[in-house]
Amino acid sequence: MRWEKFIFHYARFIYDQLLPPVCILCSHPTARSTNICFTCQQSLPILPDHCLQCAQFFSGMEKTPLCHTCHHQPPPFDRTFALFPYQSPITQLIIQLKFQHRLPIAKSFADLLIQRLQTTWYRRQKLPDLIIPMPLHPHRLRERGFNQAVEIAKPVAKKLGIPLDLHGIKRTKHTQAQSALPALERKRNITNAFTAYRDYSGLTLAVVDDVVTTGQTMAECCHVLKQHGARQIDVWCCARRG
Ligand SMILES: [Zn+2]
Ligand SMILES: [Zn+2]
Repeated sequence: MRWEKFIFHYARFIYDQLLPPVCILCSHPTARSTNICFTCQQSLPILPDHCLQCAQFFSGMEKTPLCHTCHHQPPPFDRTFALFPYQSPITQLIIQLKFQHRLPIAKSFADLLIQRLQTTWYRRQKLPDLIIPMPLHPHRLRERGFNQAVEIAKPVAKKLGIPLDLHGIKRTKHTQAQSALPALERKRNITNAFTAYRDYSGLTLAVVDDVVTTGQTMAECCHVLKQHGARQIDVWCCARRG
């Protein structure tokens, strides 16, 4: 990271810490732990009906809980839990988190995830054994200064009392951004991008990411985790691109 960028990020961090908590959307003071005021939270977009396994949005005709793809060629993860569709103002929040280093946004997403995990998604079932934030390649990590998936996953793991696995699987191939590639090249780009360094035999895992787009990066990561023994993998993400 260039030093100007470092100073900018550091100043931003101090600024965010010193001021009294304000809503990350409208900047009005708020005492809520999510740092999103009640009015703004009420206006956040709702995830449309979607596939249980990959969270792909349904077009309205589906009568099964799974989309056509998951029915015929299931991905290596078992379920996907997403908070929001990837649309305004979620899009802007994720861009500000990733590219303007606004870390309080990660804390807000973590709090929203915790609420939903406890009240809905895992209300009547056992939580996973381990939480794995989607790894970034070391080059990308140096460029950005932090991994947004780690920042989101940390408070969740702490609150739920689940160990965080930061070193068991790594991104060992520096790939181009998937979003910059045509659909057909995405699979080739991401193949063999991950290496696992431990045994996951018998464990249930949650893999956390900020946004799931086509699901190919997630599928490649989970494929490696399953090859190393993972019994069940759930995906937890802040936003799903339809
Ligand atoms: Zn607000
Ligand atoms: Zn699906």
